[in-house]
Amino acid sequence: MKISKIETIWFTDKPKLVFLRIHTDNGICGIGETYEMPAAFEGYMHNEVAKYLIGKSALDIDKHWTYFYKTPRLALGKSLEIRALSAIDMALWDILGKYLEQPIYQLLGGACREKIRVYNTCAGYDYVGDSGFGYHATGQGIDANRPYEDLHAFLNHADKLAESLLSEGYRQMKIWPFDRYAETNNGNFISLEELKEGLEPFSKIRKSVGDDIDIALELHNLWNLPSAIKIAKAVSDYGAIWCEDPIPMDNIDSLVDMRQQCSIPICASETVGTRWGFREMFEKKAVDIVMPDITWTGGISEAKKIASMAECYNLPVAPHDCVGPLTYISGVHLSMNLPNALIQEVVRAYISGWYQDLVTDLPRIDNGYVFLPEGYGLGTELNPGIFERSDIRYKVSHI
Ligand SMILES: [Mg+2]
Repeated sequence: MKISKIETIWFTDKPKLVFLRIHTDNGICGIGETYEMPAAFEGYMHNEVAKYLIGKSALDIDKHWTYFYKTPRLALGKSLEIRALSAIDMALWDILGKYLEQPIYQLLGGACREKIRVYNTCAGYDYVGDSGFGYHATGQGIDANRPYEDLHAFLNHADKLAESLLSEGYRQMKIWPFDRYAETNNGNFISLEELKEGLEPFSKIRKSVGDDIDIALELHNLWNLPSAIKIAKAVSDYGAIWCEDPIPMDNIDSLVDMRQQCSIPICASETVGTRWGFREMFEKKAVDIVMPDITWTGGISEAKKIASMAECYNLPVAPHDCVGPLTYISGVHLSMNLPNALIQEVVRAYISGWYQDLVTDLPRIDNGYVFLPEGYGLGTELNPGIFERSDIRYKVSHI
């Protein structure tokens, strides 16, 4: 089964999300995706990747992974090459699953469970895109009347948001109420007034629903070490379940310092690429909860290997998704397979909204759990209707 054609597909309303389709000469087609720098991704895919990949066996996943990792000799960390590799890997796993008529979780070693808890990342519908820091940190410009504008909700009425999530079965939520203060001084300092204001959502949630919902704190790598420690210590009074990406992931010793000084578990990091990136975090005991992003870290193959490394250090894994439907579905396959899976991230505004516009099937969620995906491979396809959209950006390479 040889690879015969490679397509890239993206849209102006989600300008960072790119889909990849890899076709084979027996009619099987695999789908993948990546996020960030779509034009560069498209150029790399058609100018470099296609030259190597077209005509090769679609089943040699590890061989192709190693080629794309080693051949450019620049494919380190969370680079364009690694993001491209991630999308290729995802599509090849989809092909393998369709060829063997098995879901991907089965091919990874089978299901360790039939369902896993999900938590809601409190982003609104348009969090993915070019909305800018004002939107992402302060909710500026959000239409608060839509039902799942959860970013606006956690900044303004976190108590009502927690009640809404609990009524739908969610028992964990993730919020980032301190981001808005990082912009003014590049994360170098947080005042007592800002600290207290940022704690208000935590206070409102606890007053409203008590300890019925777990709260994860997201810091988006925005802070320096002393500020991150100050925030994490303040939030621990509210029993926060983890502190995610408190500082930039470019000095793991700083993260070790942070972990030693704070009682709140450290979760990291969607911003780390490949098993070599995670190795130092494990060896230096820098992290409590491991969060790879499949489309950034090297694909399903690499996320599985990172999770196995984490298992050696008795660490749980929580696959990241605030990115796109195929990242989410790949995460669910991994979450079902991994012996050390903790919880799966979802964004209810996405899974109830634009994810459904782009793909045919999503795994079933009920009462705070996601269930085993159905079908072969990823168990979904790009929605045929998207190819009729006037804002499609499409490019193909073939034999
Ligand atoms: Mg994050």
